[in-house]
Amino acid sequence: MDRQEEFVLRTVEERDIRFIRLWFTDVLGVLKSVAVAPAELESAFGEGIGFDGSAIEGLTRVYEADMLAKPDPSTFQVLPWRGETHGTARMFCDVLTPDGQPSAADPRHVLKRALARASEKGFTFYTHPEVEFYLFEGPADPAQPLVPVDAGGYFDHVPRGTGHDFRRAAIQMLESMGISVEFSHHEAGPGQNEIDLRYADALTTADNIMTFRTVVKEVALEQGLFASFMPKPLGDHPGSGMHTHLSLFEGDRNAFYEPSAPLELSQTARHFIAGLLRHSAEITAITNQWVNSYKRLWGGAEAPSYVCWGHNNRSALVRVPLYKPGKGNSTRVEYRGVDSATNPYLAFAVLLAAGLKGIEEGYELPDGAEDDVWELTGAERRAMGIEPLPSSLEHAISIMENSELVAETLGEHVFNFVLRNKRQEWDAYRAQVTPYELTRYLPLL
Ligand code: GLN
Ligand code: MG
Ligand code: MG
Ligand code: MG
Repeated sequence: MDRQEEFVLRTVEERDIRFIRLWFTDVLGVLKSVAVAPAELESAFGEGIGFDGSAIEGLTRVYEADMLAKPDPSTFQVLPWRGETHGTARMFCDVLTPDGQPSAADPRHVLKRALARASEKGFTFYTHPEVEFYLFEGPADPAQPLVPVDAGGYFDHVPRGTGHDFRRAAIQMLESMGISVEFSHHEAGPGQNEIDLRYADALTTADNIMTFRTVVKEVALEQGLFASFMPKPLGDHPGSGMHTHLSLFEGDRNAFYEPSAPLELSQTARHFIAGLLRHSAEITAITNQWVNSYKRLWGGAEAPSYVCWGHNNRSALVRVPLYKPGKGNSTRVEYRGVDSATNPYLAFAVLLAAGLKGIEEGYELPDGAEDDVWELTGAERRAMGIEPLPSSLEHAISIMENSELVAETLGEHVFNFVLRNKRQEWDAYRAQVTPYELTRYLPLL
């Protein structure tokens, strides 16, 4: 047993932890949890804890039965909302096949593999997400109209607002679990909030996002509210994006920083952005994986619809923030396409792969777009070489289907599962006759 594992065992005893939840994530980004007693921990660290993989999205078909969850002791945290006595803790797990190999269906493994490829080239990948979500009066009932908790807007200070209390409680809980929050504010939609996590290596960030979603949901429930990460819950209001800031480090040095270059962006950063742009349409079915994601992408309200980059251009897919010169290690590029309901492990893996491809192939970065690209006409955009993002889930999967980059990054199993699953989702959606159609067509036709 290594030192981290010993630390976990000691803490479990000292803090009277009775349940240890083993967390992992299915291919669609849903958190899964199995609780074990402290007595099971040693064997969990050794060979892993067995569970039935056939019940989990994306694990089925290839492995109909036994899988193993092997906890990562560096992710051990006590869950604050479960109380101080007879406490509960959690660890993220790697999912293994019965012969101890990483499961091809484990999104955490997909990301680890992508990170290992970057590391072969001397890079560490850092991310920092800006997570947007809505707070509604609870409980959740899809049959009832959604009631946002307030009518505030961007950066509004809502007097005695539910949002403040909520954000304070949520942030305290996150910080007590070792997740640093950099920034939080009311977002543009009524009841919409944003909480930005401090940057960390991409695996830690992806784990943190999974924890974040759980914490936000728990705190909302405690306050009689309901939190949603759905990309576009209200047709007339902005969707919830998860803009993600990306950077590559070589040792302690940010490989994107070049003080004398335009926008202080190194050649590496320029190739990386070029890779993101060139492959953005292929990866959209991963960064925006639901039918509803495309209502956000094409619903205006500062969600990106076109493939271009710019400095401080909030209509661009990739933005290069430059608040003040001398950015140094905080140099980064912001990918604004991702939404709050993505699977963060898979999203980070494909973003990294797209950027690295740009570096490997030395892609030339096209000119930045400093105009509001929504204001341009179609002809103007075409003349500037600015392409649209996929307009629907169906469109996105039909592009992803031909992507070598995505197939390689996800591995055959996850790639095929996503295509199959998302086609089913699209077919189910297409079969609906919506209130929109009835209202519009019945009087006419
Ligand atoms: N909600 C917008 C989106 O969906 C972003 C708004 C903002 O942070 N400027 O991407
Ligand atoms: Mg923000
Ligand atoms: Mg925002
Ligand atoms: Mg942003």
